Amino acid sequence: MSDFIARCRKCKSKVIIPDQGPCTDLEYREYLEGYGKNCKCGRNDWELLA
Ligand SMILES: [Zn+2]
Repeated sequence: MSDFIARCRKCKSKVIIPDQGPCTDLEYREYLEGYGKNCKCGRNDWELLA
């Protein structure tokens, strides 16, 4: 239950970030980029929900 959720502010796409991954504001963006995570609108304006 300790996974993190990132959401795009524009299109509300959600991505689950495993707990063993990065958890700081800057590092989770690197995780999303590193794994090629893209939201529906393509802006990738992620915010961390949890
Ligand atoms: Zn988006």
